[in-house]
Amino acid sequence: MTQSPIQTPVKTRFAPSPTGEIHLGNLRTALFNALVAQGQAGVFLLRIEDTDAERSRDEYVSALQTELQWLGLDWQEGPGIGGAAAPYQQSARAAIYARYFQTLEQHDHAYPCFCSPEELSIARKVQQASGRPPRYPGTCARLTPEQRQAKIAQGLKPTLRFRVPDGRDIIFEDLVRGPQSFRSDDIGDFVVRRGDGSAAFFFCNALDDALMGVTHVLRGEDHLANTPRQLLILEVLGFAAPQYGHIALIVGDDGSPLSKRNGSNSIRELREAGIFPLALINHLARLGHTYDADGFMPLSELAAQFDFKRLGRAPARHDPAQLQHWQKEALARCTDTELWEWMSARTYQEGHQIQALVPVGAELSFVHTVRENILTPLDAYLWAGNLYAAADAFDPDARQVVQSAGPDFFRQAQAALTEAGDFKAYTKALSVSSGCKGKELFMPLRAALSGQLTDPERGGIWRHGPELARIWSLLGSARVRERLSAAEHCGSTIV
Ligand code: GLU
Repeated sequence: MTQSPIQTPVKTRFAPSPTGEIHLGNLRTALFNALVAQGQAGVFLLRIEDTDAERSRDEYVSALQTELQWLGLDWQEGPGIGGAAAPYQQSARAAIYARYFQTLEQHDHAYPCFCSPEELSIARKVQQASGRPPRYPGTCARLTPEQRQAKIAQGLKPTLRFRVPDGRDIIFEDLVRGPQSFRSDDIGDFVVRRGDGSAAFFFCNALDDALMGVTHVLRGEDHLANTPRQLLILEVLGFAAPQYGHIALIVGDDGSPLSKRNGSNSIRELREAGIFPLALINHLARLGHTYDADGFMPLSELAAQFDFKRLGRAPARHDPAQLQHWQKEALARCTDTELWEWMSARTYQEGHQIQALVPVGAELSFVHTVRENILTPLDAYLWAGNLYAAADAFDPDARQVVQSAGPDFFRQAQAALTEAGDFKAYTKALSVSSGCKGKELFMPLRAALSGQLTDPERGGIWRHGPELARIWSLLGSARVRERLSAAEHCGSTIV
């Protein structure tokens, strides 16, 4: 496949603000940038955008690194790795920003602004009331040095505002959305340094991309309107701008922005639920990007086939059923041993472990029996609970089926055990002795042996049960006999 030609060496980045847990939306941004870098033998950089001291938290900084590493999205420059442009945490770059603030001020590209939040809010209201878009009205743009000194002497702490030039068209080619054009006259002078001295997003995000040599930026389309501002900053500082691409946001399967309500989970939740890294990656790689092949691919293949031209402009719909599809694909690629490790390395309800249910020595046959009927380790745990529960533990539907088959059926089922070879021979013999066949034969047997029925309507692990033949050989003849006997006496325990 031919890819859009791009210059080398390529450097992409993921620049999260650590103000919460990483979720599907920002992980997809990380993934796309990592795929571009890997596909072009470039560098993927991680930068922590934590200038908002109030909202940024250290635990989110380390959590997001845990999730990226778990997914195999390794960065070649950034926290823990280092690199020529270190440090990679913006809170440690204040001295660098200070130098560039000075440059902006010296060349009159920025000026101190003393307007209070109340004054700004009144100005906005006046503009809105007269039908004008809210923009900074320029109150402090032309203060004399003496006026500024006087305000500073009063103890006012100014912000620093970037002076947006008049009458300019700001034009750029977006990697996803094509040619873009903005009027500078629509952009008010904006804050690049907050009153507390910290650098504002527009500024340090653009400056760091330049200082770190980032060549391509894929980010959410909510940042599109920021780009002209950032281009202006880079221009006056004499830096080349990266190529920007603004990707459509992810929406839930109800079409509204992704949230807890419509199926978004934090990446931690998905990891803890046992979702495989490559299942999540195959799912996300196709949210807003199309691939010719619809098969399961390793990261390297997804990267090799990634192409800016295949990024869509329409919102990408996250359908949890799609994630389940990729989970199934990932699961099918694991050996029984790997799956046993996957399900036995965690604790379930009230700290229980699956090892407490599955008899020693039966682990791999258990996995082999249920592997096509599970999506998560919890599913496996529930199956273990059913298969190894007390012999007379039947769920209500199963109990009903067992009772209507009647004790005679289960007496015959036990008798047939003595002659039986394999499961096929066994069910043939039972069919002859009981006169039952098809559903009449298999439903009560399934109810007795697994304590439950399958039910497509209920979904999950109940949709399709493991093959009865597999359950039969997994349990072994002593256990099968025990359950059939419990089924024979099931009616009498009913009150
Ligand atoms: N810290 C910004 C965010 O998390 C980064 C935006 C960008 O990728 O440029 O939204």
